Amino acid sequence: MFDNLSDKFQRIFKNLRGQGKLTEENIREALREVRMALLEADVHYKVAKDFVTGIAERAVGQEVMTSLTPGQQVIKIVNEALTDLMGGQSEPLRLIGKPPVCLLMVGLQGSGKTTTTAKLARKLVQEHRKPCLVPADVYRPAAIEQLVTLAGQINLPVYPSTVRQKPEEIAREAQGYAREHNCDTLIVDTAGRLHIDTELMGELGRLKEILQPAEILLVADAMTGQDAVQVASAFHETLGLSGVILTKLDGDARGGAALSIRAVTRCPIKFIGLGEKLDALEVFHPDRMSSRILGMGDVLSMIEKAQEAFDEKEALAMAKKFREDTFSLEDFRNQLRQVKKLGSLEQILGMLPGMGKLKELKKLQVDEKEFVRMEAIINSMTRGERRNADIINAGRRKRIADGSGTSVQEVNRLLKSYSEARRMMRQMMGGGGSAPATRKKK
Ligand code: GDP
Repeated sequence: MFDNLSDKFQRIFKNLRGQGKLTEENIREALREVRMALLEADVHYKVAKDFVTGIAERAVGQEVMTSLTPGQQVIKIVNEALTDLMGGQSEPLRLIGKPPVCLLMVGLQGSGKTTTTAKLARKLVQEHRKPCLVPADVYRPAAIEQLVTLAGQINLPVYPSTVRQKPEEIAREAQGYAREHNCDTLIVDTAGRLHIDTELMGELGRLKEILQPAEILLVADAMTGQDAVQVASAFHETLGLSGVILTKLDGDARGGAALSIRAVTRCPIKFIGLGEKLDALEVFHPDRMSSRILGMGDVLSMIEKAQEAFDEKEALAMAKKFREDTFSLEDFRNQLRQVKKLGSLEQILGMLPGMGKLKELKKLQVDEKEFVRMEAIINSMTRGERRNADIINAGRRKRIADGSGTSVQEVNRLLKSYSEARRMMRQMMGGGGSAPATRKKK
């Protein structure tokens, strides 16, 4: 996501940083390029213009020009401005009111509404809520089936809508159904159309009357750029949205919708969709997104993802092994499995500072099958070998390579990664490279 814009910004700022002293002309030239980059990213022209004007006012001042690191100062200002542009702070859901609290999901057909309804339900379950899903798109039987299937994957109750019912009837009955099933939240997936039409808006208006939703969330496809912004404006004018969920940001290299929606509609982006799977929904953090765009990484999101994937008890046990220097190849294999749970390596790398640029390097195209091969190699070892890697001599390496369908070089590489991980961890745990047992003797 944001790849093109991120590349351009980093090039512009590299030039700025390279200049010891900045003149007003330098800064104005850089800002012209920033404006072009935003327009090419399909940002609304007025938003791009206001953005650059705002920065110019702050950057072409005494403080920046006379500072020791003027280039850095400009980047700091752009970072803050980008964060503000996208809404400043993340906006949590407001699930206030008498249960069942209702979330009304609206949006055009194909925007990812049904998938996002299930993703959101999954997120709420993690926050210890009990959602009930309500399919209210009675025009497409497949839409009801799709939600029922997704709900099945996460074991959630679904109100049994049929195509013979009217959406208004579904809305009325679903509330009672949720109470009967002890659910505290209703997530209603409404009908989509290819275009906005008055009939659809009328229906959504009536559903709003009946359900009195705590949130009306527009699901919009980021890949449609400025169209998504227009759709958001139209829905907001007629229905009054409380937030936007921007989907398919994983496939959106430009980012125009993400950067313009808030500024044009004043409506906050609350979540972003980053993939087809049900766990690919993240809270939208403007500050972190801005850091990512500027190539400064998003270490906070990475840590949160890691916390979700890793079991704390296991992590503590692992730390103990590192401390006592008993971290074996079996533990290494466990770690590989955990890392796999984190998601695609490309996604993780994208969150690291400076990695955006490195991704261009062909050799950094991490082959995810590598994990599978590494695990196969460890699986081909005997228990004794896994517990004490020191005994793995040349003969054993050959046997392990044959057994796992890999090569001796690959086995060597894996053993090297393992000993590197062990050495690094020992250092991080406060050891100077020698095992604690040896130190105790001194
Ligand atoms: P609806 O017609 O609005 O209900 O849309 P669907 O939920 O059926 O989604 C349409 C397509 O978009 C499906 O193939 C989804 O898997 C896909 N989709 C939804 N959200 C995302 C996302 O965040 N990223 C990607 N890559 N695909 C998504």
